[in-house]
Amino acid sequence: MQFGEGGAGTFSDGKLNTGTKDERIFFVLQTLCEHGAPEDILFDAKPHVGTDKLPQTVRAIREEIKSLGGEVRFNTQMTDLLVKNNAVCGVVAETNGVNETIETAHVILAIGHSARDTFKMLFEKSCVPMEPKPFSVGARIEHRAETIDRAQYGDFAGAPALGAADYKLNVHLENGRGVYTFCMCPGGYVVGAASETGSVVTNGMSEYARDGQNSNAALLVGITPEDFGSAHPLAGIAFQRKIERTAFEAGGGAYSAPCQRVGDLLENRATTALNGSVQPTYRPGVVPGDLRDVLPDYICDSMAEGIRRMGRRLRGFDDPDALLTAPETRSSSPVRILRNETRECPTVRGLFPCGEGAGYAGGITSAAVDGLRCAEEILKQSL
Ligand SMILES: Cc1cc2nc3c(=O)[nH]c(=O)nc-3n(C[C@H](O)[C@H](O)[C@H](O)COP(=O)(O)OP(=O)(O)OC[C@H]3O[C@@H](n4cnc5c(N)ncnc54)[C@H](O)[C@@H]3O)c2cc1C
Repeated sequence: MQFGEGGAGTFSDGKLNTGTKDERIFFVLQTLCEHGAPEDILFDAKPHVGTDKLPQTVRAIREEIKSLGGEVRFNTQMTDLLVKNNAVCGVVAETNGVNETIETAHVILAIGHSARDTFKMLFEKSCVPMEPKPFSVGARIEHRAETIDRAQYGDFAGAPALGAADYKLNVHLENGRGVYTFCMCPGGYVVGAASETGSVVTNGMSEYARDGQNSNAALLVGITPEDFGSAHPLAGIAFQRKIERTAFEAGGGAYSAPCQRVGDLLENRATTALNGSVQPTYRPGVVPGDLRDVLPDYICDSMAEGIRRMGRRLRGFDDPDALLTAPETRSSSPVRILRNETRECPTVRGLFPCGEGAGYAGGITSAAVDGLRCAEEILKQSL
């Protein structure tokens, strides 16, 4: 899910709205549209491609890159960055166990937020400055889609022209933590997004039609490097990994995810059966239990308080039968690779940390815009 052609975006939900403002956003939407994404992304205020339409769009972009002289290497990993006199001079690329040195003066490092081996390699080189970054942790909350539709549309719920309803909620708690919903997938599915064996991670997706029984969103609690228990630049990764492995064990060790009813979280008791009105969509399956066995208490307490308050804003959000499937640990990168105002690494000339993994984007559109801006900087240098 996190790696390969098109990166995490290929199997994402394909929501293209972004909190950032940049004149390149329309170019990104247009390019996706020219390669097979639905035309309504050009005018919809909340553009959405859908998981079912993304892979062919990404493939069409690859074919155009190739037709323009570009090269796409599958099964190939950059395993080393070659630096001489504080400047990039190449990379080592490994394909099926065979190493090749590619000489270059420019590298755009757009590795995504889950390239833990590459983060480690870069950290060990010690010439690439990195720091731990705040991110968020929580669970996927899942309701019946009709509950959300009724809360948002009232008597008009179910009208075909409206489609499945979405929401965006956030609260600030007395304990200083923010709780918010993220990556809402109306009529969608909770999916597995782990990138390591023996770990469980949740995320969400929906098809273009958004016609599934349930609607889900990440319910996240903000955490900072102070929560990581170490000042090491990669401490956030260790924090994520511990939760993801604990979840794997709590889910029975077969990639099922731990799941708790909202009513049980609020009453502080474990869930023993999932026979309520909301049925989990996560595959291969879920195991009922207590999320406190997986997530730190301060996260569970904050989620519970967040749900109570959000239930006052969106009727049914605190439905006792709603489900929490955990853990959602990959909301954004736990690491930032430092760069200057021209997007270049301050200590390695020609290295451009880019996108979500480097800590400079929070979704498909902002990562794409960041990529464009890195490319523009390289073109400026090359002129
Ligand atoms: C299930 C799911 C749903 C999502 N839904 C949405 C959504 O609706 N809207 C939204 O905006 N965002 C969504 N996201 C997040 C979105 O996918 C990411 O924000 C976006 O893809 C980040 O782009 P990126 O280019 O920075 O990194 P990525 O897309 O993660 O790409 C990184 C690429 O680098 C490659 N790579 C890593 N290390 C190396 C190496 N050493 N050598 C060679 N290649 C390497 C990886 O294989 C990968 O192809 C979702 C993510 C998931 C998993």
